Amino acid sequence: MAPKEKKAQQKLMRPSVRKLHAYTPGEQPKVRGLIKLNTNENPAPPSPKVLKALSKAVDIRLRLYPDPSASELRQLLASLYKLNADQVIVGNGSDDLLALATRAFVEPQHPTDNGTGINRSTIQYFVPSYSLYPVLTDIQNARRNEVPLLSNFNIPAGTALKKAGWKSRAALSLVTTPNAPSGRGYSNEQLRLICEQTKGVVILDEAYAEFANENALSLIDEFPNVLISRTFSKAYSLCFQRVGYFLGNPELIEALDKVRDSYNVNGLGQTAAIATLKDHAYYRRNFKAIIQRRKDTTEAMEEMGFDVLPSQTNFVFAKPPAASAETWFDALRENKVVVRWFKTPEISQYLRVTMGSESEMKTFLKTCKAILKTLS
Ligand SMILES: *Cc1c(COP(=O)(O)O)cnc(C)c1O
Repeated sequence: MAPKEKKAQQKLMRPSVRKLHAYTPGEQPKVRGLIKLNTNENPAPPSPKVLKALSKAVDIRLRLYPDPSASELRQLLASLYKLNADQVIVGNGSDDLLALATRAFVEPQHPTDNGTGINRSTIQYFVPSYSLYPVLTDIQNARRNEVPLLSNFNIPAGTALKKAGWKSRAALSLVTTPNAPSGRGYSNEQLRLICEQTKGVVILDEAYAEFANENALSLIDEFPNVLISRTFSKAYSLCFQRVGYFLGNPELIEALDKVRDSYNVNGLGQTAAIATLKDHAYYRRNFKAIIQRRKDTTEAMEEMGFDVLPSQTNFVFAKPPAASAETWFDALRENKVVVRWFKTPEISQYLRVTMGSESEMKTFLKTCKAILKTLS
């Protein structure tokens, strides 16, 4: 498009959208035969019962709208966590609900607000954490408050939290716990300190809770301003179906419910998630296997000279030996192993490696050994 035409088109957009940088998802490679350890998908297939429920559901009923309130799914989730159904909302992945939270709780900045109402328009989160948060903040035209984690990716504790820039009255605070991309877990004691020091809505984004020693669910009983975010994507091998959920105070859940699309979780997504919850034992075996694999992989990588951070997730975050993380990323890719590397300065020395299947991890480790030989 000619520059002049492009400029005319730009004028049609909200200024905040003109400037927007969209979220960069991990690559879904089109080439076959790659070992894909870059987006924290679960290597195990969904339960056979889930696959069966899905194929049974694919018939002429596809012409009908699904249950707009996803009542069976929400009821099952409520029973699982011993909550009431009005404490549960489901979304098109937890990403959908995170976006809804910005709409329900955060006022967009107004050009004339001159710094008044700063908190009403502020979304805060730690860096590094989930890289979608800044994008959601910009989409809502809200104010970013990025609070640095300590260099070991721990949360600044006590008075250090405020000193680091944490704002008690920010409209929305997003905390990835266990943290991504570092994998570090946070104890409920640490999280409680944050909740105590925050008056706005706090979302504890527990996308990896099933792989952690501890989860923060009990904090919703202590703090009416706290929501827990979970997903079927990572632990339940269901990325494709896009189902996530929030748990917490009924008033906050109702606010989210008001701003969501009536059919934000599609029918097959609901079917898959319901069948998943009815076969929970299948998945608990998988969590155990992934946690064991994480331990074995960590040990093998450490033996090669990787500096591996302790992980409470289904991935490890590690500084490779002998060459830069970027060099390693390229070398692995050339050998058909795709991991995640972030260009962001604070973490550009690290590779994030998802726990794949047992044989994929064997190949990954063998490939690493071969690369290390060429480097030393
Ligand atoms: C993967 C991930 C999500 C998104 O999960 P979906 O339910 O697939 O949208 C949210 N938060 C974090 C920290 C994640 O890693």
